[in-house]
Amino acid sequence: MSEARPKPAAATSAAARPGRPQNAVLSGIGTTIFTVMSALAQQHGAINLGQGFPDYDGPPDVIEAAAAALKDGRNQYPPLTGLPELRAAVAAHNRRFYGIEVDPDGEVVVTSGATEAITACLAAVLNPGDEVVLLEPLYDTYVPSIRLLGGIPRLVRLSPPRWELPRAELAAAFGPRTKAILLNTPMNPTGKVFTGAELAFIADLITRHDVYAICDEVYEHLTFDGWRHIPLMSVPGMRRRCMRIGSAGKTFNLTGWKVGYVTCDAGLQPNVAKAHQNLTFTTPPNLQRAVALGLAKDDSYFRDFAADLQAKRDLLATGLMRLGFGVLETRGSYFITTDIRPLGWSGDDMAFCRAITEEAKVTAIPNSAFYAGPHPPDHYVRFAFCKRVPVLEEALARLAAWIGAGRARSARR
Ligand code: PMP
Ligand code: GLN
Repeated sequence: MSEARPKPAAATSAAARPGRPQNAVLSGIGTTIFTVMSALAQQHGAINLGQGFPDYDGPPDVIEAAAAALKDGRNQYPPLTGLPELRAAVAAHNRRFYGIEVDPDGEVVVTSGATEAITACLAAVLNPGDEVVLLEPLYDTYVPSIRLLGGIPRLVRLSPPRWELPRAELAAAFGPRTKAILLNTPMNPTGKVFTGAELAFIADLITRHDVYAICDEVYEHLTFDGWRHIPLMSVPGMRRRCMRIGSAGKTFNLTGWKVGYVTCDAGLQPNVAKAHQNLTFTTPPNLQRAVALGLAKDDSYFRDFAADLQAKRDLLATGLMRLGFGVLETRGSYFITTDIRPLGWSGDDMAFCRAITEEAKVTAIPNSAFYAGPHPPDHYVRFAFCKRVPVLEEALARLAAWIGAGRARSARR
């Protein structure tokens, strides 16, 4: 028999691939800087102070609760908007920390991480052509998520070292096509915590232009030196306009779990829920049950959590300052922004991050990755301090040796 067999798929040549263009937004972006730098860290055996994840585990009782929930039949689809006990815990958490009264049945949606929540909240309100106001530097999923939905980002830039709100520019960014603002406080990568006065200014713009606010508040419990997180939702007039996003990953040192939660008015919740229904539909029920237990923890858990991170921030900030970095103030989040010019570095931030990864064996993130607009500053570098103390000390020792050897002053351009 000489019947021709169908060729295996692997034998299909590249020339036979479809020629039609794929999605322009996704084709136009690269792999996220966090993945790129973590891979580089691994390749060079470097201490990873780049991607923001703790190198220690979450609370044992929360992890135990998840393990137990795996074994008691909690393994099928949970309700679309989340397990009732987690929705109740999210509502109670809002009341306890911010005095925000929430209906757990009609005003909460549990998502697969804050990343999904951000897209779901954007999708809930945007139509193609709608504008969204954003503050740079910003988390790298915001702009692609908006563009994928056909929205148009309007970027307003904060300036280092103080990252103050540029009020006139912000006001000028709002117009008849503005549908929403996406606000991140405490802010990644700057470590800024928005003040009551700044939030009142933003709230006034939101009301005057009749728009929505997507509030990325994943670092709500990571504030230092007496700085307190204020949800925009708690500002007068904002309750029905805000979609407030939290993340168990950040609040419980469990970044791999990807459990997020949206709190919003009953008028917005159905669309957020329907966006979630079309993105992932539900979120693992065993993890949800454990996060419900976590959110109900004593106030002391949240206090100790912030105090522990503050000590790590102090250790890293002081060490970097001693080494000659310009160290910007961090009031919240996992991150310290440093100015690399005082070291004598003559290249850009990406070259610096590559050099310290390859030569000092310490990895950080170039801040220019947090800009979507043209000509970002290229002499700032972000270090994560959510690491064990000996790891932070070792990273500082490695950087000290590298700087001591004159490597930061080598010509790079
Ligand atoms: N927003 C900001 C500002 C972040 O830094 C992160 C980091 N993970 C996220 C959202 C995503 O959170 P999650 O891991 O819960 O998706
Ligand atoms: N939020 C983390 C950071 O800013 C990383 C999250 C991610 O890798 N997607 O470093």
